[in-house]
Amino acid sequence: SFRAMVLDKVDNQTKLEVQQLHLEDLPEGEVTIRVAYSSVNYKDGAVALQQQFVESYPLVPGIDLAGTVIHSKDDRFKEGDEVIVTSYQLGTGRHGGFSEIARVPSKWVVPLPKGLTLRESMILGTAGFTAALSVQRLEDNDLEPHDGPVLVAGATGGVGSIAVNILANRGYEVTASTGKRKEEKYLKGLGAKRVINRDDIIDHDPTPIRDEKWAGAVDPVGGKTLQYIVTTLKYGASVATCGLTGGIEVNTTVVPYISRGINWLGIDSVECPMSRRLKVWERLGDDFKPTSLDKDMVNEISLEELPDVLQDILDGKVRGRTLVKL
Ligand code: NAP
Repeated sequence: SFRAMVLDKVDNQTKLEVQQLHLEDLPEGEVTIRVAYSSVNYKDGAVALQQQFVESYPLVPGIDLAGTVIHSKDDRFKEGDEVIVTSYQLGTGRHGGFSEIARVPSKWVVPLPKGLTLRESMILGTAGFTAALSVQRLEDNDLEPHDGPVLVAGATGGVGSIAVNILANRGYEVTASTGKRKEEKYLKGLGAKRVINRDDIIDHDPTPIRDEKWAGAVDPVGGKTLQYIVTTLKYGASVATCGLTGGIEVNTTVVPYISRGINWLGIDSVECPMSRRLKVWERLGDDFKPTSLDKDMVNEISLEELPDVLQDILDGKVRGRTLVKL
């Protein structure tokens, strides 16, 4: 038997607890993995504590995992291979990464890229993948380092911290916005040139357009923050929308789109096609590899410590990334 964090619903009461499972409790799938690490993402909080995205009970949450193959019915993988699995229905529609052993469809499996250890791959996890995809999409839309300040909202979070570090390493002048003023030193350590207050980039007083400020933006916050960003992008600039911690509703006008030619880029990690997924992971081990991974950015916990951290992430209290050691 092995240990896993299980979310169950009995008589309309949900419970989240560490249980002993057996291989036969795992769903069908071609690849069985001994999980070395998982990580905590905002979505895991929504699954485990708010029952969002849950398709059936019982469920082992955890949208990220990395480990070693113990059995594979697909020749592309063999015992001993180091692999990453994230996205699709992992930890929402079927058992995920908060487990010592996992079984998944082989089409979800990514070989561990050169340049990353299993541990590093989970310090990155879905948050790192999303940050990298955001930077790649901004650059695909012509962002270059000499264009001027690039804004990262929700900068102390998982996606935000990694986006700050990737952009700074590539030579961008990063402005980091945060609600945690005491984390200015942390953000400057990741490479932010300037740190501003979350409240300064909220569209309190809706205005179709403001002075041009940002050559690009990574936005895991959404809501009124995104409203503000679209009114302040420079001519031809793009915002990569990747999250909703500040809300899902966005009221904008067509003005910045038709008078400044700005781009609203949608970023989705969950259904990102495998060909692109593999390239983004390769870059995360190579030219996008954050330099701050194993310093201040990471907090390592056990399965037992998960419930508290899941609550903290929903409350916006987490800094950087939380690694779960199995
Ligand atoms: P996280 O670590 O909790 O980071 C979120 C950050 O947002 C917080 O640290 C906080 O940063 C800021 N924030 C929290 N509450 C806020 C509020 N009420 N108003 C404004 N800012 C607030 O979470 P994460 O795992 O990085 O995920 C961030 C977002 O991206 C989530 O919405 C998540 O669902 C989304 N996401 C989407 C994808 C995708 O495929 N599109 C993939 C991964 C994540 P500061 O305190 O520094 O302001």
